[in-house]
Amino acid sequence: MYTEYDYNNLPIVDIVNDMLIDASRKRASDIHFDPTPDVLNVRIRVDGELILYAKVPASVKKNLVTRIKIIAGMNITESRVPQDGAIKMQVDGSDLDLRVSTLPIVYGEKVVIRLLDYSSSLSTLDTLGFSERNLELVQKAISKPNGIILVTGATGSGKSTTVYAILQQLNTIERNIITVEDPVEMKIAGINQVQTMSEIGLDFANALRSILRQDPDIIMIGEIRDNETARIAVRASITGHLVLSTIHTNNSLTTIERLVDMDVERYLLGSALEAIISQRLCKKLCPKCREARPTTDYEKRVFKTALNMNIDYIYKPVGCESCYKGYSGRIPLQEVLILNEEIRDAIVNNEPKEEIRKLIYQNDHATSLLDDGLIKVINGLTSFEEVLRVIDIEDDLGEEQVHLKNAIIGKADVEEPNPIDMTQAKEDVEELETMDQLEIETPEYIRDVETLPTMEQEMTPVESISLETLE
Ligand SMILES: [Zn+2]
Repeated sequence: MYTEYDYNNLPIVDIVNDMLIDASRKRASDIHFDPTPDVLNVRIRVDGELILYAKVPASVKKNLVTRIKIIAGMNITESRVPQDGAIKMQVDGSDLDLRVSTLPIVYGEKVVIRLLDYSSSLSTLDTLGFSERNLELVQKAISKPNGIILVTGATGSGKSTTVYAILQQLNTIERNIITVEDPVEMKIAGINQVQTMSEIGLDFANALRSILRQDPDIIMIGEIRDNETARIAVRASITGHLVLSTIHTNNSLTTIERLVDMDVERYLLGSALEAIISQRLCKKLCPKCREARPTTDYEKRVFKTALNMNIDYIYKPVGCESCYKGYSGRIPLQEVLILNEEIRDAIVNNEPKEEIRKLIYQNDHATSLLDDGLIKVINGLTSFEEVLRVIDIEDDLGEEQVHLKNAIIGKADVEEPNPIDMTQAKEDVEELETMDQLEIETPEYIRDVETLPTMEQEMTPVESISLETLE
């Protein structure tokens, strides 16, 4: 990844151009220019990880930052306040949008360039890493004429990619699809995409009200962020529209909880919610250099407890010319929940969280993120460490999953006590009685203890407290 430029001879214009093009070809999502007391460090974020890309010597660092500010349309005479700008360029025949921002720090101006590559985010559903069963469930959910389908996950978990892939598939001449987004991340011909503009009052809620008068079949809401949007989304779906949206939650269960917290009526939510697709990204093992290795006892126990499978070999990252430290690209872990009658009833009846959790996973109704991840480890798509890194033990596992929690944190399971054997108990009592008869001299250090009050003496019996005393 590290690149040496001939800073003394190459024009700064060429160096900047080359850095932008190279970062894009390396599939970087961001480029950071970090001022230090001497050099300017250039780092690129690939597959979620920042990697040192270049060190720009002190002699040219000021010029390099100025060049970026010029092409981003920024004020080059101002370096004391943060600025925003944009660059549009073509790389290998496709359009590339760059969002540039500067921030004055103690050693100078830090510049971060975000690369939005529209062409690479156009994916079809079958290339998004869904297991065969999960893909079937998603296909089933999106074939429904109404209801809400939510894609959930943290920022940068690939939610938009999944939503766009679904829209892409639904995008036919027979359907009127309208979206409201902030921002429109990818333009798709045939879909009516609305960009919100809160400064002129065009927010999600306002746009949605107008969209409902535009005879829509399918509505996509970029993100459910507030109570009002959540309520409109639910109402739109029960009046015969398929509503797609994203929400910033961890898994199926936390999504249901969040929507209820957002003041969506339980009886509406119970009938409107159709499916929840939760996802998290893991680094993908490079297929060219990954190597099989035996599993440790710890890993064997996790596989056995989670999947009831004996796994003796898994793959490990190695590292070669076409990857970074054995990983190349990312793969999502997914959980697809199709709401069934039992879960709908549980939502409507305000059943406790742990009850709903049981209904979600019982009889393998939904495959948990952890199980999906472990299966992807077995299939050599990612590593064991990567899956455990993205699993949230508190949120993803239920109160009752003690064995699995213990396996993951490497704690020994406490054995269930054996049923009391009465014969043995009787013998023990007899033995104790015999011991009692023996003359054992009390050791010196115990004598003082004997003079301490016993429990009975210390505690006041409840009956003796009169009501008058309490008042
Ligand atoms: Zn490799």
